[in-house]
Amino acid sequence: TDTSVTVIGLGLMGRALAGAFLKAGHPTTVWNRTPAKADRLVAEGARQAPTAGDALRASPLTIICLTDYQAVHELLGASEAALDGTTLVNLTSGTSAQARETARWAGKRGARYLDGAIMAVPPAIGTDEAVILHSGPQADFEAHRPTLGALGTVTHLGADHGLASLYDTAGLAMMWSVLNAWLQGTALLRTAGVDAATYAPFAQQIATGVAGWLPGYAEQIDSGSFPAEVSALETDARAMAHLIEESEAAGVNAELPRLIKAMADRSIAAGHGAEQYPVLIEEFGRPRGD
Ligand code: NDP
Repeated sequence: TDTSVTVIGLGLMGRALAGAFLKAGHPTTVWNRTPAKADRLVAEGARQAPTAGDALRASPLTIICLTDYQAVHELLGASEAALDGTTLVNLTSGTSAQARETARWAGKRGARYLDGAIMAVPPAIGTDEAVILHSGPQADFEAHRPTLGALGTVTHLGADHGLASLYDTAGLAMMWSVLNAWLQGTALLRTAGVDAATYAPFAQQIATGVAGWLPGYAEQIDSGSFPAEVSALETDARAMAHLIEESEAAGVNAELPRLIKAMADRSIAAGHGAEQYPVLIEEFGRPRGD
């Protein structure tokens, strides 16, 4: 089978993607709006296509990785090339709505289309640490899995083209929440002369412990039943009041502690005080953003 691949977009990420394909031995065609960014890849054995259309025609699989979806539409919309000869894998970051809309658009142009998301920095590309998510028709993913696997740990999430972007943003929500919680505690402890490096190993232990609760709590959410097996929400809420009090007394930012408590208080007011923490999914699951 033809394992050649095209990479369109040679920014920091695109160059890492093309480099990993070359390293894994795939004949690699590249194209970038600013041609000079291909120089090093060409020296390493890549073939530089003169136009984006030529690049699309060169391989059964094309990876596109540009700044945003608008750039993807500008480029592929302008290019005269039909998309029906290649499977297009769009690894540009965006929203699930953009992914689904681009899938419809690509479908009209005759493309097989997978939408993906990269949860890794460029130096990790080509190692197992690089998590790369894909969504769209499973058969199209399976047909190219061996080639796509050169980029990192690749996963197919489902036929809905929006899933990769949704998982990507869900992962970011997790990342920022963990980091913000850590920063809150660090700010508090620094007022007592404890430096960040001293607190970090303790914080890491807590974060790892809490992460271990997720599968069990997920079962409660999926079954819609939240018996207080280890702690009731109103017990948590009392400790949240301590977090606010400590933050205010120490003169550090109390916005996040107040937000956390406001959500728990609404849930308690709705009658969920005797249930367990994940009952808050009901607060997270409705629109509110003021
Ligand atoms: P860069 O800014 O380094 O590269 C952007 C690329 O997009 C360049 O190749 C640029 O071309 C091209 N581009 C932008 N607009 C157009 C256009 N209208 N027509 C043609 N080409 C265009 O960004 P990255 O490579 O870092 O990021 C690319 C994608 O990867 C983003 O969606 C990003 O969110 C995602 N990503 C990046 C990560 C990272 O750590 N860097 C991590 C995870 C995801 P030119 O060279 O001519 O300007």
